[in-house]
Amino acid sequence: MTVDPTPVPTETVLLNPGPVNVDPRVRKALGYPDVCHREPEVADLIRQVRGKIADVCGGNSDYTSVILSGSGTAALESAFSSIVPVAGKILILDNGHYGQRLRDIVTVHGIECLHLEFGLAKPLDLEDLERALVGDPAITHVGMVHHETSTGMLNPLRAVGEIVSRHDRSLAVDAISSLGSEEIDVYADHIDWLVGTANKCLEGLPGISFVCAPQARLEALSGGPRRSYYLDLHTHYTAQGHNGAPAFTPAVQVLYAFDRALDLMLEETVTQRGARYGAHAATLRAGLEERGFSPLLAPQHWCNSVTVAHLPAGITYRELHDALKQRGFVIYATQEELGATVRIATMGQISKSDLARFLVALDEALADLGAAVAAA
Ligand SMILES: *Cc1c(COP(=O)(O)O)cnc(C)c1O
Repeated sequence: MTVDPTPVPTETVLLNPGPVNVDPRVRKALGYPDVCHREPEVADLIRQVRGKIADVCGGNSDYTSVILSGSGTAALESAFSSIVPVAGKILILDNGHYGQRLRDIVTVHGIECLHLEFGLAKPLDLEDLERALVGDPAITHVGMVHHETSTGMLNPLRAVGEIVSRHDRSLAVDAISSLGSEEIDVYADHIDWLVGTANKCLEGLPGISFVCAPQARLEALSGGPRRSYYLDLHTHYTAQGHNGAPAFTPAVQVLYAFDRALDLMLEETVTQRGARYGAHAATLRAGLEERGFSPLLAPQHWCNSVTVAHLPAGITYRELHDALKQRGFVIYATQEELGATVRIATMGQISKSDLARFLVALDEALADLGAAVAAA
């Protein structure tokens, strides 16, 4: 009996906020031969990747990084469960789904938390932050999301960093969807802990995430508390930083691909990648407005990589998604609370002609759905 081979899907243009379309050289690096993770070539790879991550994060030679196998949330949980001492307390700035996730992570680990919730798609209030820090001396850490991917809102990282530093607290940042396309400098922005992932604006493949921090801060975690066995940040730091081997089996081939992606990232530079994504976003936003979509956010909150827009009357997200998917494009849903909206990312290896083709496909999809609405 023969089994039909699984059909190979044709190339889809991913307009979701990660995972992204990658450069063919990145995918090719996945084909690295079978290898034992405790051999010196893998130790070299890990050392190189850690250095390149720190380079992308800016900063100075005090900073290093720790690699985790797992999606961005693995590195978030590793950092946020490891950095707050037993007697510590963390203030979480929350204006969206990923701000909520930070609160959820620290809560799971029984960490004392002050949750400042501003509301979905509402800007952070820096006066509230300042008041909270002045009013509650028990707070040792502040956690925030740089780019709140659920709404496309870019939060004012440097302004938060200045306030947190002035009040002598420690800042931990979810930069998972901003690193690589928005300006970040861990040192100048007063970031002690930056969390990122391979498969968003760094244009690697899913499976690797990381934490970037000053070496002295990582060393100082030696006193615990150790709230997790697998995700304890100090365990991974000690293994990678001192023992020259990973603590557990990493996603080795994905790491080879990420190494290649980091080379391409450093070659392009964050400034130019941000400009590339931003130019695509401008084309997309103009195209959407011409077709009856309206942006969720005021322009001062826009980032380079994600656009959230209200749908034209009579069009549902699900139907639009399916009509575009048939034509080779994947768009993304939003939180239900945002109403009839759509999320479209300009992250990853998307070309000008991909975007031009997308707008044609959008016209066709809207015509189909409009016809369906009229006929109903
Ligand atoms: C994508 C994302 C995450 C993590 O998602 P994973 O699916 O775990 O990779 C966390 N925070 C933000 C801001 C994100 O955009």
